[in-house]
Amino acid sequence: MGRNPVTWLGSPTFPRAAHTALGDTQLRTNLRKATTTIRAKRAEAVAELPDWERLRKAGQTIKDDVLAHLDTYLVRLEEAVTARGGVVHWARDAEEANRIVLDLVRAKGVDEVVKVKSMVTAEIGLNPYLEAAGVRPVETDLAELIVQLGNDRPSHILVPAIHRNRAEIREIFARGMSEVPSSDDPRELAEAARKHLRRKFLSAKVAISGANFAVAETGSIVVVESEGNGRMCLTLPETLITVMGIEKLVPTWRDLEVFLQLLPRSSTAERMNPYTSVWSGVTPGDGPDEFHLVLLDNGRTAALADEVGRQALRCIRCSACLNVCPVYERTGGQAYGSVYPGPIGAILTPQLVGDMGDEQAASLPYASSLCGACYEVCPVRIDIPEVLTHLRAQAVRARSKRNPEALAMAGAAWMFRDPQRYETAQRIGALARFFTGGDGRIKRLPWPGSKWTDSRDVPEVPRESFRAWWRRHRG
Ligand code: SF4
Repeated sequence: MGRNPVTWLGSPTFPRAAHTALGDTQLRTNLRKATTTIRAKRAEAVAELPDWERLRKAGQTIKDDVLAHLDTYLVRLEEAVTARGGVVHWARDAEEANRIVLDLVRAKGVDEVVKVKSMVTAEIGLNPYLEAAGVRPVETDLAELIVQLGNDRPSHILVPAIHRNRAEIREIFARGMSEVPSSDDPRELAEAARKHLRRKFLSAKVAISGANFAVAETGSIVVVESEGNGRMCLTLPETLITVMGIEKLVPTWRDLEVFLQLLPRSSTAERMNPYTSVWSGVTPGDGPDEFHLVLLDNGRTAALADEVGRQALRCIRCSACLNVCPVYERTGGQAYGSVYPGPIGAILTPQLVGDMGDEQAASLPYASSLCGACYEVCPVRIDIPEVLTHLRAQAVRARSKRNPEALAMAGAAWMFRDPQRYETAQRIGALARFFTGGDGRIKRLPWPGSKWTDSRDVPEVPRESFRAWWRRHRG
């Protein structure tokens, strides 16, 4: 089994990457503008529905049922897809899924494929895999296209190019397209992309998509989008290959109704998403005449086995948690070094990597202030702070007992066990006042305190402890 490409090779740990990102003022301005706008819009869209909380609970319940009976629903889905003329493939990991897709593309004898925006194909590193084999994947979602043409990395689940402003986008288009936009007006940019993509749609023989949902009872696959470019890929080419994480199931059409309300309001703050494409196998004379569904595990069954962590598999990738996260807003998505950034990335990525010995993945559960804003907005009520602390405990256990953090915790436990020791420690702690800067915060302590101050400031230690104050006044 090869390396899981869900994290980017060579990415630093989150504290180091965040430190660099925080120095980029343009990035922070772009992000603040975008997240502030979408946060306000989402709140308005959600407030319109009096039964929002009931919908959230329904979403949670349906997904929990799916996860509890995943084997049954997957087999049902496979039977329904096959009965309608589709072909189902099972992939244990990224390598297997990529190989299946490449073999299917090669069998069609093409060297270019069009792609619908899809997180799961990014998770398995499908684009670089195809490129290495001489097949050019063309992203058709506008934001994905910006990332692809800019040789960049995505920084948001829904808006992968959220870190770019209009002037930067025009520059990227001017370098990567034959149609150069005459200005950075959004309409000019969209028009240039439309002309560029039109030629691709008309010549593509094979399309690759992800899936937002799959309905087990009918074998129907659902993709929701805003631009309509996805629909072109899903209908024009002769062959359609869909790669889907095994948790994307809903049992019935009635269940789908809940998610088609939860998703658009949580993600784009729309009452309904503009384009909902649904297909069940193949229909002669209508759309692709060959349909392949690749069902991907890639760490999901391992996550399912974790009673606390498995709730991350309820995620419908709406990105609401990113838009409210104070950490994400300041660092941007690339600092997470993973296809899945923000709060959901901080809990999903380490579980998909499945190795808390991996320093970069193990640093992600710390990329949070634990403020709980992500839990409040999550349409399927994933208790992200609970999973974060659960994974932090796993990360600590995975490290050697002799690491500085474990030693510090053991020292703290020894100190708290005895009131005398505790008071002595407080007196020693007061010496840290000598390191206070002009703003009343301690930015740098000598070792071992530097382990803490490397990534955060410490508030000034009071001159007198509460116990000493109490003795002086009441004692
Ligand atoms: S964790 Fe919840 S809020 Fe975040 S992307 Fe997933 S469904 Fe949306």
